Amino acid sequence: MSSKYPHLLAPLDLGFTTLRNRVLMGSMHTGLEEAENGYARMAAFYAERARGGVGLIVTGGIAPNEAGRVHEHGSIMVDQAEAMRHRPVTQQVHDEGGKIAMQILHTGRYGYHKKSVGASEIRAPINVMRPHALTHDEVLETIRDFATCAALAREAGYDGVEVMGSEGYLINQFIAPRTNTRDDDWGGSFENRIRFPIEIIKAVREICGPDFIIIYRLSMLDLVDNAGDLDQAVQLAVEVEKAGATIINTGIGWHEARVPTIAMMVPRAGFTWVTKTLKETLGDRVKVPLVTSNRINTPEIAEMVLARGDADMVSMARPFLADSDFVQKAIEGRSEEINTCIACNQACLDHTFVGKVCSCLVNPRACHETELNMTPAATKKKIAVVGAGPGGLSCATASAECGHKVTLFEAADDIGGQLNIARRIPGKMEFNETLRYFRNMLKKFGVELKLGHRVTAAELLAGGFDEVVLATGVKPRIPNMPGIDHEKVLTYVDLVLKGKPVGQKVAVMGAGGIGYDVSVYLSDFEDDAHENPTTFAAEWGIDTSLEEKGGLIPDHEPEKSKREITLLKRSKNKFGATLGKTTGWIHKVTIDQRGIEKIGGVSYEKVDDQGLHISVKGESKVLDVDNVVICAGQTPNRDLQEELEQGGAKVHLIGGADEASELDAKRAIDQGARLAVTF
Ligand code: FAD
Ligand code: NAP
Ligand code: SF4
Repeated sequence: MSSKYPHLLAPLDLGFTTLRNRVLMGSMHTGLEEAENGYARMAAFYAERARGGVGLIVTGGIAPNEAGRVHEHGSIMVDQAEAMRHRPVTQQVHDEGGKIAMQILHTGRYGYHKKSVGASEIRAPINVMRPHALTHDEVLETIRDFATCAALAREAGYDGVEVMGSEGYLINQFIAPRTNTRDDDWGGSFENRIRFPIEIIKAVREICGPDFIIIYRLSMLDLVDNAGDLDQAVQLAVEVEKAGATIINTGIGWHEARVPTIAMMVPRAGFTWVTKTLKETLGDRVKVPLVTSNRINTPEIAEMVLARGDADMVSMARPFLADSDFVQKAIEGRSEEINTCIACNQACLDHTFVGKVCSCLVNPRACHETELNMTPAATKKKIAVVGAGPGGLSCATASAECGHKVTLFEAADDIGGQLNIARRIPGKMEFNETLRYFRNMLKKFGVELKLGHRVTAAELLAGGFDEVVLATGVKPRIPNMPGIDHEKVLTYVDLVLKGKPVGQKVAVMGAGGIGYDVSVYLSDFEDDAHENPTTFAAEWGIDTSLEEKGGLIPDHEPEKSKREITLLKRSKNKFGATLGKTTGWIHKVTIDQRGIEKIGGVSYEKVDDQGLHISVKGESKVLDVDNVVICAGQTPNRDLQEELEQGGAKVHLIGGADEASELDAKRAIDQGARLAVTF
């Protein structure tokens, strides 16, 4: 065992069984549950994580009955046939020396189908479906369904189950007065409202016996009003243990909460103070291990959290999409080789949200273990990759991993391409980890890196390369309008990368991902909110005393931007329509909270000493600004293509060089890796 992470790598004795370390791989719905050949793929996915050393894996949520499904075709476990389909998963995890629990998830009013139910008939703000309020008999039936589901999970070979009691799902809906207005045995007093989860745990324990892990995911901070507080979390934890739980896991924030809880701008370990507060308040009243979670993404952070006593175990979910060998690398003292989850949500949650199989921006193999593998190539080739942005880095490292001889040319003095701009945006510093990872992979797989080398087509043609990959990225689009050369005008590259100064009043031209990021950059308070949970909590109105119901400070007034910023776009559709599915709302809320003005349906006329001249609905006006920052999209950089092809080179285009529209690092990295395995 590495001495660097003694707390993280210490075994955890659960009485009837022992976990090999303090790492719980948190539940994630991967979409494999419903995919063709999904169970075989799921088995490969989880087995790889078990081989990588995870202490206890928790699967994505499986519903205990039809009403509890995520959507109409969401996965369910109600009979033996279903249970048997899970057998390869549990078998392969056990073969790798791992342990795995199945999460039982009843979505309640979050269910996106006509059969959704709730404690009361109150529609969720994030769902169009109105739930049917469960009758007394149906509540009892649901409890039985949880128990049957757990028994079937045991038959399927699972070592335990996680009862999902947080994130605003059915159990949470029973506990919070916000969603429970019943006046029977299951509503009214707190004792009545927690009866539902307590009866579920008792029933599961009863049917599964004493030697079965029961994790209860307890909502410790709801982040919605008219919900729980610390006293209630304490009371619930005591009752949950008494009812038979083996482990208590932390849940932070309902899905409908308007406070970011897992996105990149949330500080690392940004909510472990919640588990710590509960743990300290509980004292000896609860003996079972407490698990903490949210934005723990390196072994160093996990070790720190455990060493200072925030919890007994850490839950990390997305970090195991990013790197299946996270634990093994920590054990071997190779943490600098860990591909770190940057909390972008772009390939995991954003995919799940639109019904696509999930993957990972930094690791396109995630959930594709059966089809994307960097195995030794039959013929070793000489490959040139031009451009060390994410696309080029991915292609170069994956090609070298397959055994090819790779030269990577980069015009700039460092690797990263546009990620060097992205990582300077407040709250996007995690991209530094991606570059650290690629830097180490270039070395590990022996890629010849030529920095500060703007390679020409002639040089490439003379180099005798079997394949030439153009990962040369994009060029910012410069709109053709009078005054575009005025000294007030600069591009996002000038602003963020080159650090050119800007005045107090700024217009941002273009409201795509980059326009939003630039607005955040310009309006930033330059505090430590992205690193310090206390500052972050203050900015988002979180009550760190946990005394307020739901954990929100009443009438919180967010701070406004010190600069006067106007965000502009030509189109008339909604602002932020192209932003990430599960994180776009955070950018939108941030921009609004900071008082940034938004004007859509704009025609740009000219820039002069007066400022930016625009017309909106046929009316001309002048924005009296000191600067105009252009964020008007980009065009592919294919400068070398023609000459190379004419010279007979085998040319491949990836990332921005291939297609600039809807480009992001996810596509660039994915394309790079997928091309590499074809060489
Ligand atoms: P690039 O990153 O543009 O890299 C191309 C490289 O090629 C450059 O380094 C360039 O110097 C080099 N090059 C060009 N010609 C030559 C030559 N002849 N010889 C040698 N080298 C050459 N994406 C996300 O997925 N998530 C985000 O949150 C995100 N945030 C962003 C925020 C900002 C402010 C910006 C600007 C971008 C953001 N992006 C984000 C987009 C992402 O950075 C790009 O989509 C991605 O970098 C494109 O990768 P690429 O490899 O195609 O090209
Ligand atoms: P984008 O999303 O395509 O937005 C470009 C903006 O420029 C749009 O607002 C467009 O809107 C405007 N525009 C286009 N042509 C113009 C012209 N000739 N004159 C004036 N305005 C013009 O592109 P982007 O913001 O440059 O981002 C590039 C890529 O990086 C995106 O595809 C994005 O996925 C990625 N990115 C991702 C993130 C993330 O968090 N996931 C963050 C940043 C960037 P109008 O036509 O309405 O004016
Ligand atoms: Fe983490 Fe982004 Fe990968 Fe999701 S897609 S696992 S958030 S790096």
